[in-house]
Amino acid sequence: MHINPTLPKKILAWYDNSKRDLPWRVGKKSPKKLYYRLLSEFMLQQTQVKTVIPYFINFTKKYKTLKALSKSNEKDILKMWEGLGYYRRARNLLACSKELVIKYKSKLPKTLLEIKKLPGVGEYTANALFGLIYNRPTIAVDGNVKRVFTRIINIDEAKINFNKFIEKNKKKLFTTSRNADFVEALMEFGALICKPKNPNCLTCCLKKTCKYFKSNKKIPGFKSKMIKNRNFDIFCYINKKKQIALTKKSQISFLKNFNLPEIKETNSFSKNKNWKFLKNYKNSISNLRLNINLYYKFSNKIPPTYNWYSLKENKEFVPSFTKKIFRQVSSLF
Ligand code: SF4
Repeated sequence: MHINPTLPKKILAWYDNSKRDLPWRVGKKSPKKLYYRLLSEFMLQQTQVKTVIPYFINFTKKYKTLKALSKSNEKDILKMWEGLGYYRRARNLLACSKELVIKYKSKLPKTLLEIKKLPGVGEYTANALFGLIYNRPTIAVDGNVKRVFTRIINIDEAKINFNKFIEKNKKKLFTTSRNADFVEALMEFGALICKPKNPNCLTCCLKKTCKYFKSNKKIPGFKSKMIKNRNFDIFCYINKKKQIALTKKSQISFLKNFNLPEIKETNSFSKNKNWKFLKNYKNSISNLRLNINLYYKFSNKIPPTYNWYSLKENKEFVPSFTKKIFRQVSSLF
């Protein structure tokens, strides 16, 4: 499980010529470095670069510094995050910015252990920040990086302990003084060259030493996450003022704490006497494919934990899942 010692220099040379121009890549001495890196790392968890860019630009226009962000509130942050999904990230980002400003005087803690204790910062983000901000010899192991490593040694991902692999190869991985660039170059290389499908082997700078490229027995291709299908019934109270009743008391784990109509998981199409069927539609959340039956009822009375929301405009944050329900129900008027 050894890598070739020329790997860092080759990937860095490729990176210098081919890296994308991304708004969070500011100069090494920029005072915005920590804020931009923190914000982008939170946004990029589970989300693609092209989706993140406009959100990043809007955030940094509104909140120019980490301190400004830390003084915001959950309602405003969630509103700005609307459409980006995985809203727990937004709440954690706010909590993390507060802790950095108050406890660490707007600096990143000096040890990996302390960084990992920040809200919303796991193993991957901690390593990314430690390397990017302090130029420390570390690697942020995301899906891209795992793929590059598994391919260059041509060993199945399930058979590799990446922490041990990095430890074993540290003398070959950290041969330059450009640790911060290397953290990023590896991820970029995985995203643009050693892609999940159809890697660009013929033009790749590592092809001479890459075991995947040279082998007749290549490890299998990389599959996207397993898709899971689930069925839900959604029940909407609506009134003549074009309002819909929503509650945050949903029992569905991945929709907890969001404004939603009543929602129940089902095994099959169910008939509900007291509700009118409106339509069936699909909605995807990450690797979940939701098959939704939408029901409605005109009513002025709603259960105690519900509040009325306009189907047209809301100053308060409404997740895109609920907005889709708004669009369907609006067709009744
Ligand atoms: S030669 Fe192909 S498989 Fe090997 S690192 Fe390059 S792109 Fe990836």
